[in-house]
Amino acid sequence: MYRMLCALSAAISVLTACIPADAAKTKDRFYFERLGYAHWQVPTYRKIVALTFDDGPDLKYTPQILQLLTNYGDRATFFLIGKKAEQYPDVVRQTALLGNELGNHTFSHANIAHLSTADLTKELDEGKSAIERITGQRCVYFRPPRGYYDEPSVLTAYRRGYSVIMWSWDEDSRDWAGPSAATIAHSVLNHLHPGDIILLHDGTANSKQTVAALRIILPELHRRGYQSVTVTDLLRSADETDFYAK
Ligand SMILES: [Zn+2]
Repeated sequence: MYRMLCALSAAISVLTACIPADAAKTKDRFYFERLGYAHWQVPTYRKIVALTFDDGPDLKYTPQILQLLTNYGDRATFFLIGKKAEQYPDVVRQTALLGNELGNHTFSHANIAHLSTADLTKELDEGKSAIERITGQRCVYFRPPRGYYDEPSVLTAYRRGYSVIMWSWDEDSRDWAGPSAATIAHSVLNHLHPGDIILLHDGTANSKQTVAALRIILPELHRRGYQSVTVTDLLRSADETDFYAK
């Protein structure tokens, strides 16, 4: 239902320009969310969240994260850099085999603010081919490097078949900057809500701290009755919950 409403909203907006004038002018988060082109979090009553990991695969840290997720019966979505995926295909295959989802984080972690539409399309296509060649898994989610988005980039991704997956505003752990594991865990757990998309990194120089933080985050998630699922399952839960119909 949620996605149906997004599609309906998109159709209506074209016909009647029902999007508020201020949002349409600024093309902010709410503009893209109402169109269903991008998601920052998902409306649901179920105690589920989507842990997401950027900048991998990493030969050392990704397998450690996979093991932890498996131990707790959790799933996550990994936004891969295509170039690294080609470098470590076995890690990518293992990530998919364990039931996790793979998303596109461009081929070279490009700064898309400076890319033409043609160059962004190339980055998306090359990233996608790397993932699909290794796993056969269809790649339909795009996370822009550095979280950069504007109308041309969101539309380019949408037209190439992607939903843009951002993260909940209060769920940016900034783990890439090297805080302690306790600080990362606190930042994630302190703001936890159903439907959150949580940003973490498995492919940075500080991902050791992220692994340590997960040893705190995962048991606490479950103690509170939460589970981490893939982005697809999180989006599906919005359909099941029929959030807007209540
Ligand atoms: Zn990144």
